[in-house]
Amino acid sequence: MQTLAIEGGKPTSDHMIGYGHQSISEEDVRAIVDVLHGDFLTCGPATEAFEEDLKEVTGTSFVTAVANGTAALHVACLAAGIGFGDEVVVSSITFAASANCVLYCGGTPVFADIDPDTWNISPDAIRSRITSKTKAVIAVDFGGVHVDSDAIRAICEEHNLVFIEDAAHAIGTSHNGAAVGSLADITTFSFHPVKTVTTGEGGAVTTNDPALAERIALFAKHGITRDVNLLRNPDEGGWYYEQLELGYNYRMSDIQAALGSSQLTRLGEFSARRRELVAFYNREFSDIPEVSFQKDVSPGETTRHLYVLRFDVETLKTSRRFIYDALRAEGIGVNVHYLPVYRLPYYQDKGYPADCCPQANCFYEEAITLPLHFGLADEEAQHVVDAVRKIIDYCRAVSR
Ligand SMILES: *Cc1c(COP(=O)(O)O)cnc(C)c1O
Repeated sequence: MQTLAIEGGKPTSDHMIGYGHQSISEEDVRAIVDVLHGDFLTCGPATEAFEEDLKEVTGTSFVTAVANGTAALHVACLAAGIGFGDEVVVSSITFAASANCVLYCGGTPVFADIDPDTWNISPDAIRSRITSKTKAVIAVDFGGVHVDSDAIRAICEEHNLVFIEDAAHAIGTSHNGAAVGSLADITTFSFHPVKTVTTGEGGAVTTNDPALAERIALFAKHGITRDVNLLRNPDEGGWYYEQLELGYNYRMSDIQAALGSSQLTRLGEFSARRRELVAFYNREFSDIPEVSFQKDVSPGETTRHLYVLRFDVETLKTSRRFIYDALRAEGIGVNVHYLPVYRLPYYQDKGYPADCCPQANCFYEEAITLPLHFGLADEEAQHVVDAVRKIIDYCRAVSR
């Protein structure tokens, strides 16, 4: 048995292999420089063009580009009419922003447990959380694997709820041929550098509903409009605008948008490489009984953002903490996604029970995110697999 790097052995990789990284091409750089040489740094043609490109990629009629994925979620909740006293059922295994957006609007996030195989929000768990106060569902495509939108849409139709899909992980994923972005009432995206497509900071909100689209655009731009169809006094003159809602300045700049459009031309390439790496990991890990990976019923349609491996820490007689530290020592830049949101101290202070979602808690104890990004070399992916095997072998030997 090889000595683990954490115990003084030679690390599997001679450099730290990061879990995520953006891929910026020379074309991306040129697109940004072109904007800097032009007339508009914001509110110009690059933002409009990026929104058009996103319509194409997501198969939607209305797109508003915004400052980041959190702003996208906030605007989605505002457009959905979330306010004081309203409850919104939210995924438990997600980034805090998926729930914070409800609190921004004065509403109450209610966490639903995950499916033990897909690790996405469970439709049955959503049902169990619905009350007379429920107004919406925020479902996250964890790791890029599409939520069960057919079941969730049916629940939302039955209970008259707004279905918001937090697709921060899922640009490029589709379901039965329809792109993510077009499958919920409102879909939000993030273009943070760790995500599949980046604009530095950035996000977008998509919908096919014209009434929701109008509200999304309004809330993202101060609540101010010049649209003559919306103005109360449409005959004031060309300079005239009105504020109709208390909105925010959540605009994306043209500098970011130009990067976004350039990145979107590479989405096919990004998706294919990620899919290839996921297939490699799945193949390599399928013969290790102590680990399991995310169930995806249609991997050919998925653009994966994260590759999470679950370690059966009970059988291995170890802790996730040990495996995490041991992998880092091997040069594998692992991470953890996510601590269930209700267990963050802020939410604990608000009184959320720490045991409200048992599957999510169990997932958290076992989950480690392995490196997955476009620029990850075959050799690096092999190092990841070798390091996992080395640590599993060690745990088997020690626990025997
Ligand atoms: C990244 C992320 C967000 C927030 O996006 P930002 O652009 O960082 O504000 C929201 N939800 C999920 C699931 C995310 O992963």
